[in-house]
Amino acid sequence: MTARDGLRERGAPAPAPGPDEEAWRVRVDEKACMATGICAGVAPGRFRIRDGASRPEAEITAPAPELVDAAESCPMEAILVTDRDSGARIAPEE
Ligand code: SF4
Repeated sequence: MTARDGLRERGAPAPAPGPDEEAWRVRVDEKACMATGICAGVAPGRFRIRDGASRPEAEITAPAPELVDAAESCPMEAILVTDRDSGARIAPEE
């Protein structure tokens, strides 16, 4: 079983995870981000460009495949998705 198992269906609502539920942490390295907007296109509603850099709409979120896609699509590798509790890296793959 991997950290990506149990992903909800793409496009389904993403309710805020409870303390006992699996959750991911989404971070953007604002110094590395070139504000391409690719992540916002790949994962609508998940990222917003503000002040010249992308920022996640929610740092803590339920697992969602579009976040993996966004992290793996970022040309600067500025997005890092980890497991909220263990800190294990989920995306992009190393
Ligand atoms: S895809 Fe990467 S470089 Fe482009 S806006 Fe998103 S975080 Fe920034």
